[in-house]
Amino acid sequence: MEDGKPVWAPHPTDGFQLGMIVDIGADALTIEPLNQRGKTFLAPISQVFPAEDDVNKHVEDNCSLMYLNEATLLNNIRVRYSKDLIYTSVANILIAVNPYFDIPKLYSPETIKSYQGRSLGTLPPHVYAIADKAYRDMRVLKMSQSIIVSGESGAGKTENTKFVLRYLTSTYGTGQDIDERIVEANPLLEAFGNAKTVRNNNSSRFGKFVEIHFNEKNAVVGGFVSHYLLEKSRICMQSAEERNYHIFYRLCAGASEDVRNMLHLNSPDNFRYLNRGCTRYFANKDSDKQIMQNRKSPEHGKVGALKDPLLDDLGDFNRMVVAMKKIGLDDTEKLNLFRVVAGVLHLGNIDFEETGSTSGGCILKNQTSQTLEYCAELLGLDEDDLRVSLTTRVMLTTAGGAKGTVIKVPLKVEQANNARDALAKAIYSRLFDHVVKRVNQCFPFDTSSNFIGVLDIAGFDLVEAKLVGILDILDEENRLPQPSDQHFAEAVHSKHKDHFRLTTQFVEKNNDALHMSLESLVCESKDKFVRDLFENNSNSKDSKQKAGKLSFISVGNKFKGSSFIRCVKPNLKMVSHQFEGAQILSQLQCSGMVSVLDLMQGGFPSRAPFHELYNMYKQYMPNKLTRLDPRLFCKALFKALGLNENDYKFGLTRVFFRPGKFAEFDQIMKSD
Ligand code: ATP
Ligand code: MG
Repeated sequence: MEDGKPVWAPHPTDGFQLGMIVDIGADALTIEPLNQRGKTFLAPISQVFPAEDDVNKHVEDNCSLMYLNEATLLNNIRVRYSKDLIYTSVANILIAVNPYFDIPKLYSPETIKSYQGRSLGTLPPHVYAIADKAYRDMRVLKMSQSIIVSGESGAGKTENTKFVLRYLTSTYGTGQDIDERIVEANPLLEAFGNAKTVRNNNSSRFGKFVEIHFNEKNAVVGGFVSHYLLEKSRICMQSAEERNYHIFYRLCAGASEDVRNMLHLNSPDNFRYLNRGCTRYFANKDSDKQIMQNRKSPEHGKVGALKDPLLDDLGDFNRMVVAMKKIGLDDTEKLNLFRVVAGVLHLGNIDFEETGSTSGGCILKNQTSQTLEYCAELLGLDEDDLRVSLTTRVMLTTAGGAKGTVIKVPLKVEQANNARDALAKAIYSRLFDHVVKRVNQCFPFDTSSNFIGVLDIAGFDLVEAKLVGILDILDEENRLPQPSDQHFAEAVHSKHKDHFRLTTQFVEKNNDALHMSLESLVCESKDKFVRDLFENNSNSKDSKQKAGKLSFISVGNKFKGSSFIRCVKPNLKMVSHQFEGAQILSQLQCSGMVSVLDLMQGGFPSRAPFHELYNMYKQYMPNKLTRLDPRLFCKALFKALGLNENDYKFGLTRVFFRPGKFAEFDQIMKSD
């Protein structure tokens, strides 16, 4: 840092503020903010950074800045965001700030075309540039590639993932159904696996890895989706202001009269699994009145209707049905899905009360007998069996070492409630597994040479590091003389115990154990669709299946090369044009971006294109030199100044500098 030059010093809400150093202490600096002359504050030396000369200047690749630090990174992102330039590169990592509005033409077909086959850095940073790089690397290196999209909830991971899929299928597809299906599978997955939360109106409550497979000629041949850890607790309970999975509300709002009758559906207000999280909207409140008038759904305009003003369940239902058709689901399959969803809703309405007898136990409340009937009908279960299985538990006695006898133990009200919820969770999560499986059937492929996988998983730097770790273990496993799913799963669990414990605790907030009689009840459903959901799908097999899917990922150990997209949420209000510096800075720190900057300090982090250097410095040079082309100009200039050759490197289009060397060089030029 130089005398008399402004610096970036910490600011509680903006992240950093410009100031002057007025005194230097042993481990703190006294700073006078530029916009509050006369006032001073102390800042730790480690949190004060040199600022660029022109703080309103922005660059596409953060590495073209003269000073590379967290403050200049944040400022560069801020200036770009204010001009609706949401993408910024830091070397080959892409930072994507969620704009919270549709930026005109940013994702248009023309834009897609313009990025095709273009090297990274030749066009403005874009998610399409990352997608194209992954594709070109796959083609040239003949190795599968992955794109890891991370960021906190609402940062834009899922939207950017969809842009990658759309880019690859429309640019490198064969123009057949498959291309569109890979894109259209998303509305269906989101209907069953996304929900409104306080942080995101369309929050993915599961992680997914989408692979796009290519043939020998590098054209799209199909796709495959793996999913991780659907949040099960949400099926039965939601936090205040949050909702259950979209599908429940959409079905209530959008199903035709016939279907509503068949499924005995009415307003979401009447279902326990839906009416305990969301705020209600009231006709006597002006703001709510406006909201209700603006909507066309039949649920709207109803006093106290449980309807989220930000979500258009009816419109979303219709869009989802179109997507279902496009990916090839027929009416029967569609109704199968709807029937089970409705079955889960009715199941949730079953209520219990104490029997009052000395044996303890509980019975169904009188009012819920019709609910029981609906639930049994929709899930293909026998009404009496369902009643008995919900209120008792089968146990095997082992008294006196004799062979066990089966006895039925009555359940208390709370235990019966748990049993009911466990059943609902089991059915819904199997249904979700089925949806993913069904989606995979709609873009099958026979042969695949390589693939590009996109990981969209709610990420704190933790999850990503672990997943990369898991892929490493997998490669190790494949090198063993006798690789096995079992051994792989054990290795993953032993190395990542803490992480798994954490996730499990997070996801399974309730006791999900499905007791034996309920499990066998659904396994023997008269409804083939329900029966199939549970076939060959017991819990213990889940981790093995996951391991199986992962082995699939690293076929032949050809899995190499990752690109990273770090998504950033600009503000907590989820609105456009609002940049909350301090919390963005903490996202950059948590996502490892700041450590990336530190790592770069060991290499050649700053870079500048020849023509830029030429334009910047030609005024200081004699005419003879300026007649050279920009590359030769730079070479001659560096020689003439006697710069140490270890401090820079010449690339094809630009010069790379060791940390701080670009700034030093600039000073020499300007002082001479
Ligand atoms: P979660 O972890 O909760 O699933 P996420 O990171 O997947 O969050 P998204 O669902 O992708 O977040 O984005 C949240 C919302 O932000 C989107 O529904 C959309 O309204 C908006 N959004 C995100 N990216 C963009 C973009 N590039 N352009 C316009 N709007 C966007
Ligand atoms: Mg998401």
